Amino acid sequence: MIHSLERPFMCTQCPKTFQRSFQLKYHGFMHNAHRPFQCQQCEAAFYDPKVLRNHTARVHTSLGQKKLKQKENQLAEALSRNAISFQREKRIEFAHLGGTYARIDFFIETSNGTVICLENDESAHKDRFVSCELKRMLDVASAFKMIDASKSVHWIRFNCDAFSIDGLRYKMSLLDRYAALCKHIANVQQHGSSDFSVTYMFYDCGYTNNQLVLDLFDDLNFDENFKKFVRVIGP
Ligand SMILES: [Zn+2]
Ligand SMILES: [Zn+2]
Repeated sequence: MIHSLERPFMCTQCPKTFQRSFQLKYHGFMHNAHRPFQCQQCEAAFYDPKVLRNHTARVHTSLGQKKLKQKENQLAEALSRNAISFQREKRIEFAHLGGTYARIDFFIETSNGTVICLENDESAHKDRFVSCELKRMLDVASAFKMIDASKSVHWIRFNCDAFSIDGLRYKMSLLDRYAALCKHIANVQQHGSSDFSVTYMFYDCGYTNNQLVLDLFDDLNFDENFKKFVRVIGP
């Protein structure tokens, strides 16, 4: 190993440390909700230029769009192999929110009153504003509760792309991730879930007091009150 794992660059706002000064700089932008790297083709903006490059390749090229569909199809096949029935591209109307709607990648009903909304999150949706994501998940939950107040809504945010643990890229095959996902779904199908909950799978995380904590929690826009609904499944 040429590089040691020394991490001399310490964040002053959280316990994270970094190997390189630019990593600390970009990380700092996130704390300040500052996104200096603007996409030239849409209104998305980023705190890390690497994430902007990924976004452009993914969202603004036909190859990227094709790959996205392939990944969704792969996930559909994995669910089918595990005898999990689902609906794709389920449309949820927000009648109470002025007629807008959300489309959910995979929708899974259970016999215990819990509905599962599963999203195949490319690159952990790093190009989305986290506050919009949280609001969307809550809006979908309240749309279900308007129809049937006894329903529990469980979100699964499944990242099919690269992720890191403590800032270091972690390698885990898609097949192993699908296996963990199907196991988690089977568990919810069997035991249900609390009123509202979100499980993030294979997102960037770090260890704090021996517990996996989402890097997303560092984002100023991640509402403190929302954190209690969140669980993390990592490697
Ligand atoms: Zn920090
Ligand atoms: Zn864009």
